[in-house]
Amino acid sequence: MIASQSTLCGLSALAGGLLLLALCGCVVQAEPGDSQILQVGSVLFQDATVVGSGPYAGQSVDVLIESGAITAIGDLNAKADTVVDLSGRWLAPAFIDSHVHLSFLPRREQMLDGGIAAAVDLAAPIHSLDDDVAPMILLQSGPMVTAVQGYPTQSWGSLGYGIECENESEVQKAVASLSAGGASVIKMPVTEARSLSEPALRAGVEAAHSRGLKVASHAMTQDQVLLAADVGIDVLAHTPTAQLSDAGAQAWSKGAVISTLRAFGGSDIAVDNLRRLRAAGATVLYGTDFGNLQTTGIVAAELELLARAGLSGAEILASGTSVPAQWWGIEGLGSVDVGKRASFLVLGSNPIETPAALASPEAVWVNGVKR
Ligand SMILES: [Zn+2]
Repeated sequence: MIASQSTLCGLSALAGGLLLLALCGCVVQAEPGDSQILQVGSVLFQDATVVGSGPYAGQSVDVLIESGAITAIGDLNAKADTVVDLSGRWLAPAFIDSHVHLSFLPRREQMLDGGIAAAVDLAAPIHSLDDDVAPMILLQSGPMVTAVQGYPTQSWGSLGYGIECENESEVQKAVASLSAGGASVIKMPVTEARSLSEPALRAGVEAAHSRGLKVASHAMTQDQVLLAADVGIDVLAHTPTAQLSDAGAQAWSKGAVISTLRAFGGSDIAVDNLRRLRAAGATVLYGTDFGNLQTTGIVAAELELLARAGLSGAEILASGTSVPAQWWGIEGLGSVDVGKRASFLVLGSNPIETPAALASPEAVWVNGVKR
């Protein structure tokens, strides 16, 4: 999609000259088709309508980026190496996908191309913690901390996606070693047998929290969701697919839930669960379970299911930008604002009115580089 914009501009210019180039709404002072020029130096984006959170939301402004960061916003007369006319375009923060498996399906570049500037990898072999993932920001759990023969070691995750623990002490050791190895979140599934015992889960949560790490859990049923809340898990890695009672939803009033509706079929029950978790006060984080799901970038079907669960366009945008940036502590992303990374989506429609526009950006910029 991103390459096609450059191609389109180049073809337009070749076919019809400068008028068509101007009409295509992208580069006005770069050579047609010369996308490389956009990857260095300063860039001034003119007349973009900023959407999302922050002081410039809803305003039509100029945005100056230098060395990969946003350095000025307003009615600017700044000089820049490249000028991009964004009149009639919307500028949204790049997205954060709060549930991916980039070792299972290693398509990080395609995710970046589709507007995912940051992600949370919730299960991968231990060696993945050493991967160089720049320019993506990747929070990683490494292997799940699970029971002997527990999820997912007997199924899709047999090749290193789980550390099997017998008891509380082994769980504590696993969390300590993951933390020392660079994990920035811990994942502990709560499933049918074989699952960690309640004391082992509690010990794991305490070990993680004492190191400043949040804990995510795969918990899909009412009983599992109640147990996860009881032992202090911070975030449900999925919207539960089995019907929750009011008590089940209420147990997450102070917790968070990662949507992943599409990956599990987008059932009416799951959509209703997400609606009720939100109503109870849970924080909703956009997430796709990429790896299980194979669609790269921002997933239109997930956005649509979030809308069905009652999120407004502004809330859908927030669930993939400002909300996860704050919840996970990802500085530099979440809004189009001075001091943030120059990571954003150029959109042809207002995503507040048409959330699907997020899934087909006209251009994606990550750290000041056009994808
Ligand atoms: Zn997953």
